[in-house]
Amino acid sequence: MSAQWKKLDVAVMGGGIGGLSAAVAMRRAGHKVTVYERRNFAAEVGASISCAANGTQWLHEWKVDVPSGRPVVLLHLTMRDWKTSEPIAVYDLSDYEKKWGNVYNMFHRQDMHTMLLETATAEDGEGDPVKVVVDYICDDVDVETSTIKFRNGKEIKADVIIGADGIRSNVRTALGIKTERKYAPQTCFRCNVLTDDVKRLGLVDYSYEPAIQYWNGFEQHEDVNKYFKIVMSPCAGGDIVSFYCFMPTEYAAQHTSEGFTFKEVDVEEMLVGAYADKLEKNVVDLLKASIDRMPWRLYVHDEYPYWSKGPATLLGDAAHPMMPHQSQGACQAIEDAAALGIIFSKNYPQYTHDVAAGLRMYEKIRKPRASRVQMASRLATDDINERIGFTSLNLPSSFDATAKELGWTKLTIPEMNTYDMKEHIAKEAASEVAA
Ligand SMILES: Cc1cc2nc3c(=O)[nH]c(=O)nc-3n(C[C@H](O)[C@H](O)[C@H](O)COP(=O)(O)OP(=O)(O)OC[C@H]3O[C@@H](n4cnc5c(N)ncnc54)[C@H](O)[C@@H]3O)c2cc1C
Repeated sequence: MSAQWKKLDVAVMGGGIGGLSAAVAMRRAGHKVTVYERRNFAAEVGASISCAANGTQWLHEWKVDVPSGRPVVLLHLTMRDWKTSEPIAVYDLSDYEKKWGNVYNMFHRQDMHTMLLETATAEDGEGDPVKVVVDYICDDVDVETSTIKFRNGKEIKADVIIGADGIRSNVRTALGIKTERKYAPQTCFRCNVLTDDVKRLGLVDYSYEPAIQYWNGFEQHEDVNKYFKIVMSPCAGGDIVSFYCFMPTEYAAQHTSEGFTFKEVDVEEMLVGAYADKLEKNVVDLLKASIDRMPWRLYVHDEYPYWSKGPATLLGDAAHPMMPHQSQGACQAIEDAAALGIIFSKNYPQYTHDVAAGLRMYEKIRKPRASRVQMASRLATDDINERIGFTSLNLPSSFDATAKELGWTKLTIPEMNTYDMKEHIAKEAASEVAA
């Protein structure tokens, strides 16, 4: 006879997209949840974040008021020529919802964050409202005593400790995971152009199409390094056109950190190398009209040996930081959160009595899939034809020969969107019971 389900005290370190998603999922599973965040939320970055069907699915499951996040629903991915802006390849998303049951949303990060924060803390909705406290920096976790120490001198105990504290995770260090942060060969600037300015200045109107548009990102021209790449998309209900402008790291060597709060850089710092003299003029004009220009340093990470120890685990970028080229970092964090919510739900009361076993199950479910996306994101850094969507167009990739040798198969939209996590967990849990 299985044990009765038990309400747990859950402490989430970090209130980013991953931490808030975990808070929503665990609240809905019936637990008491507190989020401890080091910053004041006002600093959330102003850039776009896409949420494909595999992320959107869980937002609906959790009854998140998605329209409140003012998403733009994407209808195509377009690859363009760096020098002429002519389309090279288009992946059509117009039947995406029909095929996968959910749309491909593009949010403004602040909107997505606010939407999740409101869902977590709302009085109505399934479960108890989540408590969110700011100015709490998690410094250390003792897994033997289930204790968390904060820089402000406070100490708390919890039944489940979730390290959602981003790429420089202190929880990860406390779990004894050694990490090597390697500078990526590519760095990024993000910036925004207001759609009103696009119209007022008579700039190109394709910029506010419901699409992600890409320039370069592979060996397109001999004189344009493959790490020059632009990712442009509308967000914030179409009010903003967001840009990620990538370049070889040596062009931005003066920016040595990644993160959320930076002094805005002059547009000249972005218009270097192939941006200066090879990029099509309309795009240069768009970038000249940009605001909120901030550097975003990127790192290449390897898969970690484990994520969990005793009552503590990692989630989101703390567990599987990845290059941004599959647009899946946040979606994978949402999937992590969904897995925790299912494993600690009333369907699996056994894990509420043995949290460590529940977290082992979480890792078993999530690590292989998130690590595969992590690897695919790394490959897409060097060749945009490795990006989901474009992988379905059968465009030749520079990795094709090596991939064949190593048995690597390309990550695809069907793989991401047909995965049934509930079924996966049910199967694994049943085999544990049988064993
Ligand atoms: C250029 C770029 C573009 C991207 N575009 C996309 C996209 O289109 N789609 C997508 O799915 N993903 C995208 N991503 C990835 C996505 O942004 C991340 O994967 C996602 O934000 C991770 O969320 P997180 O909550 O795990 O981490 P974070 O967003 O880093 O949040 C961590 C939180 O923890 C807090 N914190 C840190 N340390 C502590 C501490 N010691 N104690 C308490 N709190 C702490 C931080 O202040 C922060 O609020 C992109 C990433 C980059 C760099």
